[in-house]
Amino acid sequence: MCNQLIYAANRIEALAIALVPVKLAFGIKALCSILKLKKLMNHQLDALKFDNRFVTELPCDPDSSNRRRQVAGACYSKVLPTKVCKPQLISYSKEVAQLFDLSDEDCTSDYFAQVFAGNMQVPGMDPYAMCYGGHQFGQWAGQLGDGRAINLGEVINKKGERWALQLKGAGPTPYSRTADGLAVLRSSVREFLCSEAMHHLGVPTTRALSLVLTGEKVMRDMFYDGNPMHEPGAVVCRVAPSFTRFGNFEILASRGDVELLRKLVHYTIKTDYPQLGEPSPEVYLTWLTEVCRRTAIMMVHWQRVGFVHGVMNTDNMSIFGLTIDYGPYGWLENYDPGWTPNTTDASGKRYRFGNQPQIALWNLARLAESLYPLIEKIEPLQEALAVYSDTFKQGYNEMMAGKLGLRHFDPATDEALTDELFQVLQLVETDMTLFFRKLALLDSNQIDEASDDVLLMPLLDAYYLPDELTDKYKARMGAWLRSYFARVRSDGASEDLRRKKMNAHNPKYVLRNYLAQLAIDKAAEGEFSKVNELLDILRKPYDEQPDKEIYAAKRPEWARHRAGCSMLSCSS
Ligand code: AMP
Ligand code: MG
Repeated sequence: MCNQLIYAANRIEALAIALVPVKLAFGIKALCSILKLKKLMNHQLDALKFDNRFVTELPCDPDSSNRRRQVAGACYSKVLPTKVCKPQLISYSKEVAQLFDLSDEDCTSDYFAQVFAGNMQVPGMDPYAMCYGGHQFGQWAGQLGDGRAINLGEVINKKGERWALQLKGAGPTPYSRTADGLAVLRSSVREFLCSEAMHHLGVPTTRALSLVLTGEKVMRDMFYDGNPMHEPGAVVCRVAPSFTRFGNFEILASRGDVELLRKLVHYTIKTDYPQLGEPSPEVYLTWLTEVCRRTAIMMVHWQRVGFVHGVMNTDNMSIFGLTIDYGPYGWLENYDPGWTPNTTDASGKRYRFGNQPQIALWNLARLAESLYPLIEKIEPLQEALAVYSDTFKQGYNEMMAGKLGLRHFDPATDEALTDELFQVLQLVETDMTLFFRKLALLDSNQIDEASDDVLLMPLLDAYYLPDELTDKYKARMGAWLRSYFARVRSDGASEDLRRKKMNAHNPKYVLRNYLAQLAIDKAAEGEFSKVNELLDILRKPYDEQPDKEIYAAKRPEWARHRAGCSMLSCSS
């Protein structure tokens, strides 16, 4: 109805300008503007209920200028997003919009694009940037903070849930250091799509409401080779119960500001973990234990789906156990635990796929250390960290049982079974996602008599270099398949059950690096349909989608070394 009103207003306005005398045309134009404004005033965005606890409960930086600086004694600085010239909506997530009762009509309105590009704030928004520090690549890096993220506020939705809204790429803040506070289209498409893809995969993650082109140009040296170029700028609106990171606590501990550290811990327990009860030293430990547990669960999921974050610095670790900050992340194509998508990490490979679980523990240890001044005992902190290791181990085993379609993980047999599988998968380039989906298709009743060649036939699509499948390799994979099916038989689950379980743990569709790049290439030409198509496919990553089979295919050879399809720099 409202869209029809706007449409009618636009038509009348156009006709008036074309057909009637100037004075009358002005009158009609004014009337049309009022009609359009009316529509804006009725917008559901204006009905959002804000309860901005982070700013009401925690101390604010007294300096209100947007000058880059060290901010001590405060948890955040008030800062407005920078206005941009021509906001244009590229895409939005219907599911996230529903959290706020925003209709399609609301999300496609000009008002929505203006608000989520940072040009306007709706009533109740109170923008600010957080102060945090972090360990980057194993070294303490001092104050970092929201250098290009601006929080708009926290909404309490109809279900009573708290959701913080945050713009990424909305201009400089006091924490921008030497950078510009902006984000380019390519990295914004990647963040937008991956947040939603991860959610639909069942991986704990921050969400994304919208992706808006700003109309501004942003200068980036994409390859760090001294050739900066102008790229289109964009803003993503991220949504999460909380954006607090390990680094928010670390910065206060590093400055010896124990009073504010305690205040932030109290705030976090009361607001984000109210189920734990009134804050006390005992509850601090319960809270840390819960952060360890949630982080372990997140790690199990990353390893299950083949996600590599790429920059697991402590400032990129959420105290909610959510995947946060999608930068030079990537998806394992051929199974390789040594792979990292981040060119900045290419030499040390600190954040390689196989190292992620250990790094999460290292990061949790930095969080535990920063809480030490509130606890003053080492042992209980170590006990909390041990919960990470136990939860991860147990969760990982259960997850592997799921990937293999077993009812239970039996360490006596299954540790060796999975170890051997991961050895064999590395012998020739094997697509991890395809391998597990294809493994589900094998028929356990036809294993015993089949030759190695026949056994491998249904798996052939998963191999990048089929010419490298030597007889020796086939014999080893054949032997593994036979021992796997022997184990399946002893497990006793029906074929149907095994397949169902496998297909619920092994996605068919993931945001392959080259698929994201194809969508980015199109978006850069002003064609956004690929972004929306991918968003749609990735809504049902475990389902067969026969007309979208091409998006489940392994990486084509042209993408092997192409920028954006294999490795990425931090330039974003
Ligand atoms: P990241 O490696 O993206 O997690 O960023 C590390 C730190 O650099 C964070 O404090 C970011 O806010 C900041 N940062 C990254 N890119 C920019 C940028 N373009 N402008 C300002 N700050 C940035
Ligand atoms: Mg970050």
